Amino acid sequence: MKRLLLKTLLFLSLLLFIGVVALWVLSYRRIDSISRYPYFPATREYCQEAVRSSAGRLWVSSNRFSIADNGLAARMAKDSSEGGYDNAWSHELFGDRIYPDDARWWERAGPYVRTWRGLSPGMGGTGSVSSGYAVAVPYWNLAVVALLLPGTLLVRRLRSRRSRHMAEVLGLCVECGYDLRESGGRCPECGTTVAHAAATG
Ligand SMILES: [Zn+2]
Repeated sequence: MKRLLLKTLLFLSLLLFIGVVALWVLSYRRIDSISRYPYFPATREYCQEAVRSSAGRLWVSSNRFSIADNGLAARMAKDSSEGGYDNAWSHELFGDRIYPDDARWWERAGPYVRTWRGLSPGMGGTGSVSSGYAVAVPYWNLAVVALLLPGTLLVRRLRSRRSRHMAEVLGLCVECGYDLRESGGRCPECGTTVAHAAATG
């Protein structure tokens, strides 16, 4: 049961790794974007939400505007009732790259996080407020995470193989390390059958 769980997790880790590498390579050729831009007339909220893959990074961003201008709010409510400002997620492709201009060096190597909240007269009129966040994670960070479990298992397996080999060479029991040079066939300490002839000396 534990073995099956470990194998499943290992399989999922490798699948994740392949997916991450594929998106990583693609992210230098184009911007994949899954986004939605709904408007909610009841709360006068206009949202821009997106998940993007660009320039070696996975991006998640959300921006919410409260629309203060009455005329604009009325127009957006009308458009929304006629099928505009769709709340469904849709996939788009862009040619340009998006890159965080204000990122410090450690934010280029690792996760980049920004949150904001403030007046936004440009979008929505005087008194409008914009709030949101942007998170960008380099794909190589995700690749390392995906390889944590497979890497740990590989190192553990190599170590145990080496220690078994060393025990055999030294004439010790591979299970408990008991000195088998004086005994043959079966370990007197733990009962493990001795596969190879113990070294003499
Ligand atoms: Zn033993």
